[in-house]
Amino acid sequence: MNTPETTFGALEKTRALLSNPTPLHQDCGHLCGASCCRGEGAENRGGMLLYPGEETLYVPLPEGFAITRDTSVMPEGRLLTCRGSCFRGDRPLACRLFPLAVFLEEGGEPTLALDPRAWPVCPLMPSGMDGLSPEFVGAAAEAAQVLAGAPGTREFLIRQTAHIRWLHRPLWESGAVS
Ligand code: SF4
Ligand code: SF4
Repeated sequence: MNTPETTFGALEKTRALLSNPTPLHQDCGHLCGASCCRGEGAENRGGMLLYPGEETLYVPLPEGFAITRDTSVMPEGRLLTCRGSCFRGDRPLACRLFPLAVFLEEGGEPTLALDPRAWPVCPLMPSGMDGLSPEFVGAAAEAAQVLAGAPGTREFLIRQTAHIRWLHRPLWESGAVS
């Protein structure tokens, strides 16, 4: 019988799944100057939301990282910001998945897709999922199943999906333009 993953167990497993596979077989950061790591502001950068419990893996905080509160997806959410470069082992799960994201609706099954938030920065987007390394997509698909199987990460995915859909709602929908 399968035992449900704990939230932290799911997090550790998915971080491990995505510790080696990368979007391309070569370092895609060389193609774009690592544009997803270069956000706005004097100190990097837009930041990446941490998955529930992931902040405990950043004690002590690696040099150049900062963690702040961010309630855009979860009331107790945490945003990790960085200086635009890091050791691979320090990358948060969201960075390991980028430019993919896991979408999940209440009561549904997880879906892996290109993250629409990547369009402004990632040159891999126009090639679609077929342009990504199969090993990377396979590991991300497995990660999606693991994350959706643990209560805490499942809740995060549902809320994050709603947030991404809200951010990318059509302009003609009520409230999208002021
Ligand atoms: S923006 Fe896209 S191509 Fe560039 S480093 Fe990030 S994932 Fe790779
Ligand atoms: S944590 Fe690392 S991979 Fe993620 S945006 Fe910062 S430098 Fe890039």
